[in-house]
Amino acid sequence: MTMNPAWFAAGGVCAAGGLFAWGAVAAGSQLFGRTLRRIDDASCMAITFDDGPNPTVTPRVLELLDRHNVTATFFLIGQRVRAFPGLAREIVERGHAIGNHTETHPSLTFLSSSRIADELDRCDEAIVIATGKSPRWMRPPFGYRSPLLDGIVRRRGGAGVAMWNVAARDWRTQSPDPVIQRLRRARGGDIVLLHDGDHRVLEGKRGHVLAALEYWLPRWRDAGIQFVNLDESQLKTQAG
Ligand SMILES: [Zn+2]
Repeated sequence: MTMNPAWFAAGGVCAAGGLFAWGAVAAGSQLFGRTLRRIDDASCMAITFDDGPNPTVTPRVLELLDRHNVTATFFLIGQRVRAFPGLAREIVERGHAIGNHTETHPSLTFLSSSRIADELDRCDEAIVIATGKSPRWMRPPFGYRSPLLDGIVRRRGGAGVAMWNVAARDWRTQSPDPVIQRLRRARGGDIVLLHDGDHRVLEGKRGHVLAALEYWLPRWRDAGIQFVNLDESQLKTQAG
């Protein structure tokens, strides 16, 4: 089992807190419940990847994260976990956190409570079968919440709904340059949204994401930024 040293180091490095900042992502979104969108620790960044696992991209992301001692969080689609269970297992074995990104990646906005719960249950099941671990955080597809979602997540005993405050807008195939530019504003305390998968196709092209990571990971490290995954931060919150 390969462990990422950063996974162990971060608890000590980011000693300033680990308390979560909760807030609305957009005006009026308090209607949808409290949502994680930042980390209350200016020395730490949480990088998150959605829509995997993707066999053409995720292994290269994992290699890059290892090379720069970075721990991250992967919000996985249940169907993709069933297709590539070994890859989901490898994410966990390398010390990263896994979150629930639903079974089929629907918009949850107009789904019934039972449909939303079913999407979350089936994704949880796929992840537990593949990795032996239950995901703690969930992220709604497209970032679309529902007035029902927060209550459902809380009733299921999950940590909560995790959004982001910096998006690379990398979901379409594009050259790396605009992705690199959009990440220029990422700082400590931010939760950064990237995609290693593509919910529309099994093996989406994400060369622009890999190139942006190649560019930014060493620069963020040189700037003194440390990295946490969301499970780790939550553990610190409980400990404090
Ligand atoms: Zn997604």
